[in-house]
Amino acid sequence: MPNEIATPAQLAPQAAASSVPTVKLLIGGRLVESTTTVWRDVVNPATQEVLARVPFATPEEIDAAVASAKTAFKTWRSTAIGARARVFLKLQQLIRENMKELAAILTAEQGKTLPDAEGDVFRGLEVVEHAAAIGNLQLGELANNVAGGVDTYTLLQPLGVCAGITPFNFPAMIPLWMFPMAIACGNTFVLKPSEQDPMVTMRLAELALEAGLPPGVLNVIHGGEDAVNAICDHRDIKAVSFVGSTRVGTHVYNRATQAGKRAQCMMGAKNHGVILPDAHREQTLNALVGAAFGAAGQRCMALTTAVLVGAARDWIPDLVAKAKTLKVGPGNQPGVDVGPLVSKQALARVTGLIEQGIAEGATLELDGRAPEVPGHAQGNFVGPTIFSGVKPGMSIYEQEIFGPVLVIVEAASLDEAIAFVNANPNGNGTAVFTQSGAAARKFQEEIDVGQVGINVPIPVPVPLFSFSGSRASKLGDLGPYGKQVVLFYTQSKTVTQRWFDDDSTGGVNTTIALK
Ligand code: NAD
Repeated sequence: MPNEIATPAQLAPQAAASSVPTVKLLIGGRLVESTTTVWRDVVNPATQEVLARVPFATPEEIDAAVASAKTAFKTWRSTAIGARARVFLKLQQLIRENMKELAAILTAEQGKTLPDAEGDVFRGLEVVEHAAAIGNLQLGELANNVAGGVDTYTLLQPLGVCAGITPFNFPAMIPLWMFPMAIACGNTFVLKPSEQDPMVTMRLAELALEAGLPPGVLNVIHGGEDAVNAICDHRDIKAVSFVGSTRVGTHVYNRATQAGKRAQCMMGAKNHGVILPDAHREQTLNALVGAAFGAAGQRCMALTTAVLVGAARDWIPDLVAKAKTLKVGPGNQPGVDVGPLVSKQALARVTGLIEQGIAEGATLELDGRAPEVPGHAQGNFVGPTIFSGVKPGMSIYEQEIFGPVLVIVEAASLDEAIAFVNANPNGNGTAVFTQSGAAARKFQEEIDVGQVGINVPIPVPVPLFSFSGSRASKLGDLGPYGKQVVLFYTQSKTVTQRWFDDDSTGGVNTTIALK
């Protein structure tokens, strides 16, 4: 493996001088200190403690990571499928053994509660388990005797160096959506985690090395816009997988595809829960409150808009009462339901949108601004917030708030509710709450959203299926894990073959037909 990586003597003075630990790059199988002069603090959002400093990798370091992946591909691509699978069998074991530590790192840098952090790791672990089944997933097809003595078969072959760019809100699950499946398919990988919370991702990368990934098969670089653009433009990267906001995802998709790469981008959302009056009241209220305010609303599949149909409009006081029972506080404190927002900028954005909601005429049923969190006056906290009387055109409906804010709209009928949801450009997730099979089936058939829950508020599919957000929430045809991603991370090659007996005879065939 070429060693094009930084030596300790090249340490940036800023990094060397500080007592705060630095986040390393992973290049060529080694954790290396960046030589960059641009660093950013990784901050605990409940306390503002600086946990680490993350480098913005230099162009040379990004090139070194891609070069290392390119070299590693030469041997990894033909590594036996069982050997590739066994790395992920081992990785799933290591993730299980280190679950508590991973969750603690994640909570410290991202803010979500410890049980939810374990959920974040667990949903990624499911993809690692699936990657261990690559032997079955990457099977080709064969048709015997497509013409006389002719067989045709397909191979699903790896592409080369693939890259992934991940958001802050699932710093374990989403990196684990990407590199395990790409690598299990025989590709090598360059990952760029969110610069806001890269530490748990790095711990997962270390575990992947411990599980037996050869040097250069997985590389991790850090940074922001420049690193992302370098990935999109790099001639040696064949495919880019992105998860994040619609603004950045659209840019990444356009830039990467214009550079001739495959790209898939899972992006922003506005997810509606449609509540019919016959729904199971207690379970539905629990589901709405959990899905709107869990993870402080910082989930792409959060249910952020409740569409109350007919008499379900009378549920608002119960919804507010249920939301008030949630405890706001630091994610590592037992009993906390709603942790802090990831950053001061996110806090300012969410409180600004709440103010806009009031100014634009929505009714503030529950105000979660500036909640009292004893001992954590510096934390980026917003408690559950509920608006009713919300209309299209209001900022709180048009924008993805990405905070613990539920907006309520009303509809006279299921038809009206379906039309309302379908008129929203986003298509990440939706759910219907009802005890009527006929109503649920109508919803399933007529709703134009890629992931549908029936009495399930956050219908993120397990990896036997693929994440299947749609419309403005996604660019690219294939999903980020499950069977679909095997097609994304491979090139199909069709082989048509014929073998001749020594004594075979025959004439020239000047037609297109196989004879
Ligand atoms: P983001 O788009 O700000 O950042 C995502 C990645 O892009 C990060 O790695 C970041 O460093 C990079 N980036 C940021 N600005 C950039 C720029 N100008 N140019 C190039 N790269 C840039 O997203 P976020 O705030 O980290 O995450 C929240 C968003 O992600 C929400 O919109 C949420 O809905 C979405 N999300 C979607 C899914 C999904 O599956 N659809 C899943 C999780 C999150």
